Amino acid sequence: MKKELIIDCHSHIGKDYYWRDANIDEYKQLMESQGIDIAFLMPVPGQVIPASPDKRYFIWQMDENMNIHFNSEDGLKEMKNPYAKVNEYIAKVISSNNGKEKLKFIPLIHPILDTPEYIVSLKDHYNPVALKIHGVACGIGPKDIGKDIIKVLRQLDLPIIVHTDYCENPRTPIEHIRRKNNPYDWAMFFIENDLKGYLTHGCRNDLKTFKLVYKYDNLVVGIGPDLKISNERQRWVDKIDMEYLDIIRNELPIDKIMFDIDYSWNIDYNNNIDYGAVERLSKYFQGEEKRRILSKNPERFFGLKERKYNEKN
Ligand SMILES: [Zn+2]
Repeated sequence: MKKELIIDCHSHIGKDYYWRDANIDEYKQLMESQGIDIAFLMPVPGQVIPASPDKRYFIWQMDENMNIHFNSEDGLKEMKNPYAKVNEYIAKVISSNNGKEKLKFIPLIHPILDTPEYIVSLKDHYNPVALKIHGVACGIGPKDIGKDIIKVLRQLDLPIIVHTDYCENPRTPIEHIRRKNNPYDWAMFFIENDLKGYLTHGCRNDLKTFKLVYKYDNLVVGIGPDLKISNERQRWVDKIDMEYLDIIRNELPIDKIMFDIDYSWNIDYNNNIDYGAVERLSKYFQGEEKRRILSKNPERFFGLKERKYNEKN
C-alpha cells in the first residue's frame, strides 16, 4: 500500500533565546521517523543573534501603564522590519537543506513594525505558502494591527499562521500579552478582515472559537504540539475534562483540522523531543479522516496543488 502523504504545517528552525536550538538536522530526523513529506518551516519566535547567543534580534518591554516599548539588540537604529535578518538567515539554512518541494520557508512578520513594502516584498523574495505572526514575541495582539498592514495582507491573500495563547488572570507582562493573543480575538480579526487564518495550538480549547471555526470557511485549526498542549491545562480557555485530541474530534469539522508538529516545542514528559504525534493522531482518526488531516486539508487551505500547476507553467 502506498504510504499516505504527511504535511507538517507548522514547525520552527533556529536557536531560541528562551528555548532550545531547533536545528535542521534534528528536524530532518523527525521527518524521517514520522514519515513527514512536506514541512512548513518558520523562524523561532526569539531567534538569537548567531554571533552573540546571549542576545536576540528583537525585544519588547511593558511599562506600568501596560504600554509596550520596542527595542533591538543588533544595533538597528530604526525598529523597522525587525525580522528581516532572521528571515534571511533561516531561509538560507532551509534552502541549503532543500528539496524546495519538501521544506517550505514561512517568513515571520511583525504587524506593527514591518513596513507594508517589506511585507509585500516577501512574496517576490520567498514566494511563501503562508506568513507567520507570533504575537507574544512581537508584543502585540490582533487588535493592535493597523489598517495599512491589513490592506497589504489582503492584497497578498496568503494564509496567516498565528500563535494563539491564553492566561486566565494575567499579572506579568508576558501573561498580559498571552491573553491579548487569545484565539477568539484572532478568529474575529480574520473574520472581520476577510483573511485566511490558521489558528495554532488547538485554539487552546476555546469552545466559543470552535463555533466560529465551524461557521467560517477562512478559519482552520492546527493541533500541535499535542502532547505539550495536553499537559498545559492552565493555558486552556475551557478546561474540559476530556483528552485534548478527543475534544478536537468532538468540536471541529474534519476539514478544519490541520496536522502540525510545532518542532521544537514538541516535547514529551521528560522534556525530550517527542516522536509520537502521528501515532497518537492515528488513535483518534483513521482512514479518510486521517488522510484529510494529514494532507488533503492543508493541500486545499494552502492551495498547494494550484501552486504546483502555476510553477510548472
Ligand atoms: Zn509556532
